[in-house]
Amino acid sequence: MGRTILVFAESRDGKLRRVALEALGAARRLAGGDGSVHAVLATAGGAADEAAELAARGADVVHVADDPALRAFAPEAYIAALRAAMEAVRPDALLLGHTAMGRELAPRVAAACGAGHVADVTAIDETDGVFTRPIYAGKAFERRSFTPGQPWVVTIRPNNFEPAETTAGEAQGTVQALPFTVPPLLTAVRSLVRRAGGQIDLAEADVVISGGRGVRSAAGFEPLQELAGQLGGAVGASRGACDAGYCGYALQIGQTGKVVTPQLYIACGISGAIQHLAGMSQSRVIIAINKDPDAPIFSVADYGIVGDLFEVVPLLTDEFRRTQSG
Ligand SMILES: Cc1cc2nc3c(=O)[nH]c(=O)nc-3n(C[C@H](O)[C@H](O)[C@H](O)COP(=O)(O)OP(=O)(O)OC[C@H]3O[C@@H](n4cnc5c(N)ncnc54)[C@H](O)[C@@H]3O)c2cc1C
Repeated sequence: MGRTILVFAESRDGKLRRVALEALGAARRLAGGDGSVHAVLATAGGAADEAAELAARGADVVHVADDPALRAFAPEAYIAALRAAMEAVRPDALLLGHTAMGRELAPRVAAACGAGHVADVTAIDETDGVFTRPIYAGKAFERRSFTPGQPWVVTIRPNNFEPAETTAGEAQGTVQALPFTVPPLLTAVRSLVRRAGGQIDLAEADVVISGGRGVRSAAGFEPLQELAGQLGGAVGASRGACDAGYCGYALQIGQTGKVVTPQLYIACGISGAIQHLAGMSQSRVIIAINKDPDAPIFSVADYGIVGDLFEVVPLLTDEFRRTQSG
């Protein structure tokens, strides 16, 4: 028997986040051939393009919650929209991205709906409804299932599931308004000040080039930025580099920073403390560049380069430039 799955389609600046499409892809597989997939979009005006994209990528029904209170991230308003969608759809599971927003919403919606909750899922056994997630900073994996008959609320780690593709030639889903009531908001966003830069989102980047204390200064990040630019990737950092003031904490990867799962992770001048590994050890291919052949980072690396990052990184950039232009 198919399942009914609801996806929170997180968007930013009028564009669906990639993890929303990954959640939609996971939902389609979890629902099964005779199940149904619903998506809920939160917007403060319109979102017609995003709704159409979800419908074209396999959502049977797109529920659009449209209210000025959803312009900035006001948790109570978003929770009200998600609860209304849960009540309208009565899904077996609600899937969200394991993003800052998803991490805040999921446990609150689960508590409000009396649902079970599993966070940071990296694999789903669709047949048995078993969810796998790393625990103990990635040293072990836990497999969890839910009590039958109860709804599930699940966050999925970005970059771990195939995104939903457009279903050319197949019937498209329908788009409908989701009625909901905005409760009194407990906090109000007065302004949102963005840092300039427009770097690719670390959590969703396919390639991450990270620098540690070995970069020695803020300027030491420049060769890493060049390599990231060449590969279309994002720059990250260890806490050692952040603590030393070489970069902002927004770049920190690890237990108390961001968790990333790119296709390629290049660690430059990072020793490989367990707290750093917690944020990157699930990357598909790991390359470590370190002067110290005994650095612990080499124990998780697929490829290790023992050398000075200031010599190795520019060589890599030149080589990628050469092969990509040829
Ligand atoms: C509660 C707690 C939470 C933490 N959370 C995090 C976290 O989220 N993320 C995190 O990263 N850390 C975290 N830490 C800190 C962590 O324990 C380490 O201190 C930190 O990761 C070390 O950063 P690093 O590898 O850059 O520096 P170091 O350990 O100093 O390593 C620098 C490395 O650079 C190499 N090197 C130096 N110069 C060069 C060169 N020119 N070329 C090549 N290699 C060179 C050295 O051989 C060395 O291996 C946490 C710690 C605690 C206690």
